[in-house]
Amino acid sequence: MLIFEKGREGRSLSILPECDVPVTMPEEGSQRKRSLHLPQMSENDISRHYTETAKMAYGVNDGFYPLGSCTMKYNPKINEDTSSLPGFTQIHPLQPEHTVQGCLEVLKTAEQYLCEITGMDRMTFQPAAGAHGEFVGLLLMKAYHESRDDKKRTKIIVPDSAHGTNPASASMVGFSVVCIPSSEDGGVDLEALRKAVGEDTAGLMLTNPNTLGLFDKNILEITKIIHDAGGLAYYDGANLNAVMGMVRPGDMGFDVVHLNLHKTFSTPHGGGGPGSGPVGCKSFLAEFLPGDLTEKEGRYLLKNPPHSMGRVKSFYGNFLTVVRATTYLLMLGKEGVPEASQHAVLNANYMMAKLKDIYDMAYPGLCMHEFVMSLAMLKKETGVSAMDIAKGFLDHGIHPPTMYFPLIVPEALMAEPTETESKETLDHAISVFRSLYETAKSDPETLHQAPIRTPVTRLDEVRAARNPILKYDFSDKETDKDDTGN
Ligand SMILES: *Cc1c(COP(=O)(O)O)cnc(C)c1O
Repeated sequence: MLIFEKGREGRSLSILPECDVPVTMPEEGSQRKRSLHLPQMSENDISRHYTETAKMAYGVNDGFYPLGSCTMKYNPKINEDTSSLPGFTQIHPLQPEHTVQGCLEVLKTAEQYLCEITGMDRMTFQPAAGAHGEFVGLLLMKAYHESRDDKKRTKIIVPDSAHGTNPASASMVGFSVVCIPSSEDGGVDLEALRKAVGEDTAGLMLTNPNTLGLFDKNILEITKIIHDAGGLAYYDGANLNAVMGMVRPGDMGFDVVHLNLHKTFSTPHGGGGPGSGPVGCKSFLAEFLPGDLTEKEGRYLLKNPPHSMGRVKSFYGNFLTVVRATTYLLMLGKEGVPEASQHAVLNANYMMAKLKDIYDMAYPGLCMHEFVMSLAMLKKETGVSAMDIAKGFLDHGIHPPTMYFPLIVPEALMAEPTETESKETLDHAISVFRSLYETAKSDPETLHQAPIRTPVTRLDEVRAARNPILKYDFSDKETDKDDTGN
């Protein structure tokens, strides 16, 4: 039941302080005709409503969340403590710089650490998500080519294993996308890449390890092919959880990087944010970054880069997310950062090794932080699809792995356990994986019905996508009088 349906006329709750400034009515014509549909409830009922709603949702605090490519790791609670400090929350973005020196220090510290981790020279925190970071990174590449009067560079090369946001961002920036196939071993096909580059190449977008969970051993050759053709190399940093503190995109030959603070750097995500997709670049691109950058000249100040592309988000981006990421980095320290990645890779390989006798692995060698299974054979034998198995996890209190991605693996399931899970949790998930496989063989119908223990069961996903109901319809409940007394 929605909160609007629970409310009862007159059951109000006055928690707003009395207005201490003169009340002014809006101009004639801009006044609303009807009163707002605000639910009227007691505090007790509101509190129960939200507790009930929260219980129907599933988050990383409820249990295991092996959603591949999303890095759903546990977010230490101390990040919430620091990001709730009044010095960070009770400020106004238009305050003079000398009154927010602490906040600017956080931005500068985060920039320094994350540049050190990525091998970049400067970083902006304006972008609000990974895809937004891609957009900014591609604008940087465009600005660079244009500044050299190199206007024929209109193409971005993207491998077929890429995250869907990569080609989407490239076309949003006005580039055309050249998709190249992956090689047998799941990496970039060097021959296909050599054929694809030319005078029209603006650059390449790549994530390494890629979405198959594989580190591309040819990475130096790949970025060299791009540079020799006059293009730039963009690193999609969403998979940095596998390699942070171990190898740096800057050393792999990349010129621009985005990170997902809400994945790798431990900010809660899912449910729409707030996220943060900072973009780092080598110094020759820094002049085009969005404003403002934090500088230290005695004290901290904000400066626009000389040929800045302008703002891509209001003020300083999602600042509290940067506070969380900085806290996380300070807690882990120089030793903890690579250790986290090592454990993420170890956990993924442990699960993979314990499952590969029954599940077909798309690439059976060692993986990085995630691994991809193909359920094509299982589906052929039993009729049970990747979707059915994924839904089956819900009845065991585990969030399903990613399904049907990457696109080049048929009936794909992709699992990313992350470093924050114990051996017991992994062993339990492995036993669930195995028992779902047994059920697929012995009683496939059960899995077509799954989930049966969740607040809502199998949804009509096509209808949800084609006819989404995105707002509440009050029309048959118009009992409110309008403000004119009618
Ligand atoms: C999550 C992800 C993105 C996009 O990041 P958002 O913050 O969701 O916009 C891009 N690339 C890869 C590989 C990802 O996993």
